[in-house]
Amino acid sequence: MCETCGQCVSACPTGALYERAARSRGQAKDFIKTRTTCPYCGVGCQLDLNVHKKTGEIIRITSEPGVIPNDGNTCVKGRFGTDFIGSMERLTTPLIKEKGVFREADWDEALNLAAKRFQEIKEKYGSDALAGLSSARTTNEDNYIMQKFIRAGFGTNNVDHCARLCHASTVAGLARAFGSGAMTNSIEEIRRAPCIFVIGSNTTECHPVIGTLIRQAVAAGSTKLIVADPRKISLTDSAHIHLRQRSGTDVALINAMMNVIIEEGLEDRNFIQSRTEGLEDIREAVKENTPEFAEAVTGVPADAIREAARMYAEAPAASIIYSMGITQHTTGTDNVLSLANLALLTGNVGKECSGVNPLRGQNNVQGACDLGALPNVYNGYQKVDDPVIQEKFEEAWNASLSTKPGLTVVEIMNAASDGEVKGLYIMGENPMISDPDIGHVKEGLENLDFLLVQDIFLSETAQLADIVLPACCFAEKDGTFTNTERRVQRVRKAVDPPGTAMEDWRIICEIATHMGYTMHYENSEKIQEEICSLTPIYRGITYSRIDNVGLQWPCPSETHPGTRFLHKDQFSRGLGKFHKVVFLNPKEMPDSEFPFILTTGRMLQHWHTGTMTRRCEVLDDLVPHGALEINPSNAEKLNISHGDLVAVKSRRGRIEVPANVTEKVARGTVFMAFHFREHPANALTIAALDPIAKIPELKVCAVQVEKL
Ligand code: SF4
Repeated sequence: MCETCGQCVSACPTGALYERAARSRGQAKDFIKTRTTCPYCGVGCQLDLNVHKKTGEIIRITSEPGVIPNDGNTCVKGRFGTDFIGSMERLTTPLIKEKGVFREADWDEALNLAAKRFQEIKEKYGSDALAGLSSARTTNEDNYIMQKFIRAGFGTNNVDHCARLCHASTVAGLARAFGSGAMTNSIEEIRRAPCIFVIGSNTTECHPVIGTLIRQAVAAGSTKLIVADPRKISLTDSAHIHLRQRSGTDVALINAMMNVIIEEGLEDRNFIQSRTEGLEDIREAVKENTPEFAEAVTGVPADAIREAARMYAEAPAASIIYSMGITQHTTGTDNVLSLANLALLTGNVGKECSGVNPLRGQNNVQGACDLGALPNVYNGYQKVDDPVIQEKFEEAWNASLSTKPGLTVVEIMNAASDGEVKGLYIMGENPMISDPDIGHVKEGLENLDFLLVQDIFLSETAQLADIVLPACCFAEKDGTFTNTERRVQRVRKAVDPPGTAMEDWRIICEIATHMGYTMHYENSEKIQEEICSLTPIYRGITYSRIDNVGLQWPCPSETHPGTRFLHKDQFSRGLGKFHKVVFLNPKEMPDSEFPFILTTGRMLQHWHTGTMTRRCEVLDDLVPHGALEINPSNAEKLNISHGDLVAVKSRRGRIEVPANVTEKVARGTVFMAFHFREHPANALTIAALDPIAKIPELKVCAVQVEKL
């Protein structure tokens, strides 16, 4: 099926296929190519922006075969997703709100006012009354500068970003099991994996180039594919086994697979003995979690669970790939720990084509975590409450730093609502669409004394701000992104920013300096040099070394080649650790009043809160609005036909949205993508948190559906 990726255009040998814009606006000789990294998902495809020499416009996107990590492939967003850059709706000048209305201002006025308001709050209420949201959309340099400013300028560790909403449980779970919370292996290894177990990842839509790799591997006949997903996603067509578990029952499913592996003696005893500890901790929990027990909980036939367990355990190497279907639960950390247990039990860590591989959602969510946009760690996951680390950063940053871990995203919104956080600085995030229970988010943001938003558009969140500052987008600045396989890659300036928009890091430095904490860097490379000096896992990653191809951390010196897969001879924590995990239900189960499970996610043509993709002609033409997926048998009972407008209501909110009657979702479950401001799925979702990772349960809440 055509996915509009544009690959046929780039491969057409006769030139019969061409992009409309490129043919009408010039030929290859009229363009300058600038290599950069895709601003959308975590695959980190390398793109060439073809800019017209005369007009300075981006005319087409190409990608060169042979270049890591995408080998010339892109998806529809990478190929056709740059219209937003030249949008007339871009912010071009600072805006200050007066009596509820924005007026244009110059930078001096806006910076002075922003610094004054933050300073007043700090002096009156203390540093912890301030907070910042950093951004997985922006560069590593931007994120490093943001967390440095919040810590050294504001004086608090209240800094977080939307990794909290997607992979906080990955960071927490894998760090406990292995000592490092990142994707263990490389994208390139997926093509050669003898067995791939995809769970909770709609890979072909959310990480399309990796989805294509998986399909190619299966088509080549060398790879067995197991897909566990409550929906019939397109990858299930290629799967040897599809386990269709009920949403929120992953632990029961994975424990049952381990039950089979232990019962049938399929575990890797040598690996367990030499590389792990704590197997006895899980034996009992797994023993009671038989395939028959799991069938009752998950709805997956016990024999299918047995077959999947054997297929995974008997493969010479097996790779687990997962995403937010695993992480966005109140049991998100448990889910990740269960997958780590499964990999440890079968010796599938620390070798090629195996591992536990979380696919990071946004372009630089890995980098934002690596660079310390988290409330408990500095850059390189160095703990804020470790006095030795604190001293190192106090000396480097010439500032007094707090050892008290800060608040997470949802906690910041709760504290704003309660009046404990008074001033908030948001860089490139849009919690009014992305966060759970957005009614509550709005209440929090409106309760602040001062809200500063810097972004490329007047987003739903920016509209609530007191001051809005215009920032450059990815194509207008230099820097680096880190993709899902820990590869640090260059971002390069191809076009000029609109109006007076500035790089995010430069704006932050200006505010810091206006507040009396001087921050000045000549360019982004100088920031990277500081990052190298203070971040052991990034120490050897210089701009000159990643000019042609990125490097994967850990890269501890300028002669180190980077690390393709982690935990080869030893885990980062020494031994891999098994954790006892027992099945628990999601926080909010369906009942007679709210009889459906709502699960939310992403789709191929759009990205995150839609601020960029909804402003791209091709993408918005392909999918101009959202829809509620509902199973035909449920639809029939409610007299709902395909395309009918329905009301969806939860205990937190109500939206109206067209119905998409489809077998993709199981009976009793409905699905919505969260990209659409006209019917925001997060008006319905619940802000119940995983107790360890503090990630909200965006994948399960109870709703009712009614035809309008
Ligand atoms: Fe590649 Fe992801 Fe960009 Fe698509 S969205 S081109 S898969 S990085």
